[in-house]
Amino acid sequence: MQRRHFLAYAGLGIIGIGREGILSPAYAYYEDLKLETNPPVIEKLELSDDEWKERLPEDSYRVLRHEDTERPGSSALNDEKRAGEYVCAGCGLLLFSSSMKYDSGTGWPSFFEAVDKNVVLRTDFRLIYPRKEYHCARCGGHQGHVFNDGPKPSGKRWCNNGLALNFVPSDA
Ligand code: FE
Repeated sequence: MQRRHFLAYAGLGIIGIGREGILSPAYAYYEDLKLETNPPVIEKLELSDDEWKERLPEDSYRVLRHEDTERPGSSALNDEKRAGEYVCAGCGLLLFSSSMKYDSGTGWPSFFEAVDKNVVLRTDFRLIYPRKEYHCARCGGHQGHVFNDGPKPSGKRWCNNGLALNFVPSDA
């Protein structure tokens, strides 16, 4: 997909950020300070776009590989209350546990905490104002955005597309 997003950021003069290849090489665009102190050390899973398309259901492919956002309220994971683990739908990497989940009322599966070393962040300007977008640290799959309006003590809301996750119940 040849999308190219441009922005004019007054004062900083940043003009034109390509979205293709943003996750490679070496996560060059990730800006979160956490990455500077705790860089991803997970071995990457790198597949071509065609390979991802073949491997994933169409709707998950669009979210994970082309940063689509699922319709709010559409994921069965919103109502998932069982104990278990939430893993990346692209590669199976553990991203959240059920103990990190809460009902944010937004219509997307939400968590107040993530498995830090398994997610990587970058700033997304698609809505003009900056948002923190996060990806699976292994396959680079887009998961969602993290906001600062979550419950205490973390204050974080990891707002995830259900299509980007698989739930593995503890009793499975
Ligand atoms: Fe992944």
